[in-house]
Amino acid sequence: MKKITLLISIWLGAAAFFSCEKKTEAIYQPQTFDKEVQDLLKKMSLEEKAGQMTQIDIRNLLTNGYGNTDEKLDTAKLQEAIQTYHIGSILNCIQAYTPEKWIELVSQIQNEALHTTNKIPVLYGTDAVHGVGFMKGAVILPHNIGLAATRNDALVQQAGTLTAKEARAVGLTWNFAPVLDVGREPYWSRFEETFGEDVYITTQMGRAAVTGMEGSDLTSVNSVASCMKHFLGYSAPKNGIDRTPSHIPEIILREYYLPPFKEAIQAGASTIMINSAEINGIPCHGNKWLLTDLLRGELGFKGLVCSDWEDVIRLHTWHKIAATPKDAVMIAVNAGVDMSMVPNDYSFPKYVIELVNEGKISMERIDEAVGRILTLKIKLGLLKKPLPSLEDIKVIGSDAHQQIALDAARESITLLKNKNNCLPLTKGKKILLAGPAANSLSALHSAWTYTWQGANQALYPASIQTVKQALEVMTGQGNVKTNASPVFTDAANYDASFIQKNAAAADVIVLCIGEDAYAEQPGVIKDLNLPAAQKQLIVAAKKTGKPVIVCLLEGRPRLFPEEEELTDAVLMCYRPGNKGAQAIAEVLFGEVNPSGKLPFTYPRYNGDITTYDHKFKETEQQLSPGVSEFIAFNPQWPFGHGLSYTSFSYTNLKVDKKEFSLKDSIQVQVDVTNTGSRTGKEVIELYSRDHYASITPSERRLRKYAKIELKAGEKQTVLFTIKASDLQFVNKDLITVTEAGAFDLIVGNLRTEIHLND
Ligand code: BGC
Repeated sequence: MKKITLLISIWLGAAAFFSCEKKTEAIYQPQTFDKEVQDLLKKMSLEEKAGQMTQIDIRNLLTNGYGNTDEKLDTAKLQEAIQTYHIGSILNCIQAYTPEKWIELVSQIQNEALHTTNKIPVLYGTDAVHGVGFMKGAVILPHNIGLAATRNDALVQQAGTLTAKEARAVGLTWNFAPVLDVGREPYWSRFEETFGEDVYITTQMGRAAVTGMEGSDLTSVNSVASCMKHFLGYSAPKNGIDRTPSHIPEIILREYYLPPFKEAIQAGASTIMINSAEINGIPCHGNKWLLTDLLRGELGFKGLVCSDWEDVIRLHTWHKIAATPKDAVMIAVNAGVDMSMVPNDYSFPKYVIELVNEGKISMERIDEAVGRILTLKIKLGLLKKPLPSLEDIKVIGSDAHQQIALDAARESITLLKNKNNCLPLTKGKKILLAGPAANSLSALHSAWTYTWQGANQALYPASIQTVKQALEVMTGQGNVKTNASPVFTDAANYDASFIQKNAAAADVIVLCIGEDAYAEQPGVIKDLNLPAAQKQLIVAAKKTGKPVIVCLLEGRPRLFPEEEELTDAVLMCYRPGNKGAQAIAEVLFGEVNPSGKLPFTYPRYNGDITTYDHKFKETEQQLSPGVSEFIAFNPQWPFGHGLSYTSFSYTNLKVDKKEFSLKDSIQVQVDVTNTGSRTGKEVIELYSRDHYASITPSERRLRKYAKIELKAGEKQTVLFTIKASDLQFVNKDLITVTEAGAFDLIVGNLRTEIHLND
């Protein structure tokens, strides 16, 4: 047994999940605010303060009532919200508005706020999770799951800045992004919004997204306030269904789910949204340990905590930890919620006022919450410049932004299989194209695109291509035979007889299959298998004897183990966004050499969902004679997998020395050579494997990655520097430690051993 050495990060709240409250309470110090904020707080009434803590959905303020698609604010309803209830924040819309319409609406709201006693502008929040989805003309990027496949943090940062600029231009100053939930449960309907299963990738890309959105000056037209979400453990629902309770021991919570939030806080994220669900029987919105002791005391977060949709009242209606809606407000505010996304009535401010008057919420707690809200509004420059300017909207959908979306889509696409190098295709070949995603816009984009679900194709701009259209542009309409309908569910998209009848004249069959758009609960599934009707298309295509190329447009891995064997090539396209179809066509025809790497383990079977960093030693056995399929780790495709049209070799893996102290940096280098015949980008990943540890070590953990481009024949030495402390893990006492002992460092098929000494 090795001696445990504490190296960094002694988690101050490191007692058991339920019993640490006392220990960490002591370290939480009430926040102090700038003079400007203090002065405002002194001038404000309790009613105004309760209003600032309230967020309302804009649909409540439109003419004709909630649920309509009107673009007009009802003056009386707006006055009631701002003058009577003093509300501090408004969110979203029902479907995308033009930039001009957004400016008109936001200006009307801010002008109303400027007619209040203290003239405090409204904070407008939106879900721009892959570009400003609720705005016509905005650039829609790949969802995070695709961005993670690029392994290109710089692109993620650019995507963040692009999104910030387009949102800010119309006065949307608060973005409910990035999602920092680690996607370790592929059933979860929000898997596509995550950066995949790896903690390190999520941590790195989360930081890139936050810094991209916030920049160095929140008053800038290039910046918005980001919102880390959803704190904490939302992505691990016990049965995979969105918002179902989860059981996550604190050791797991700290090892896999907390680090991205910790990093984003250090990167300066301004706000955080809470997980709607409950962990270990405690609803997150009522968990003071989570929202105050851990988040404030231990992680030092000073920004704004907002609830998720309706979740304060759900402490009463769903979770049953509050006997009345008023008790729910008391529990949530006292636990640490600063702003409630109510979002459909004014009960919240009313209860807050009553609870303060009854002494059940202290005035200090209210001032603290409102102080944070005012601080953010001041940092955003809203008090000095509350109104958006029409002149800023020229940036929306600009060529430069389109180019970033195209680069991101190109780098995300992941070639999973390429039997006999059947890809890339040559121009002039006859393509038979089929499948429900072949002519679909919604499958390319999914959640948070023009509507919440992303499924209303009528709202998509005519300029966005489907895969069918992009292939026609690429190789000529006469070379693409298809009956693909834009509507995912149309019977024509599943017509195997069309394939049989038309295959003779084709050189190759391209099937676009996967999933239509969805978000949150409507995207819940109970079976990861691809629907039978889609599997049948592969079977029918194989029967024709022509090469079968499958393009997967999906937000999570959908399984087809038997049919996969019938395919010649498989391209994982994720949700590639506005420029996705073009990128897919370019990859199919070799104009772009694919370089994406899977950011999750693609399971083979429903019953075998295992992440690459698993701990079960028996699953390490590779499938080979004598090893049962039922114990071997045998995913359809492993984490990190992704082919290229060229080949790369790795040689000379070296470490600067073999023995290290726990304070040392470790320099690792490897030579990477493009051994094929064309230029290509390669992702180099450095993994570590702890030989023995005080708790079962992971099979391996990703510690660094880099992406380089090499011409045919070109060689580059890639250098990685890691700290010995990067080899840390959370031990049985919930303390983050690096233990002395032997470790493998692994790059590609190379491995070297180092020793950490006390
Ligand atoms: C989602 C959040 C989102 C919010 C506002 C909720 O249902 O869980 O991620 O930010 O709605 O649209």
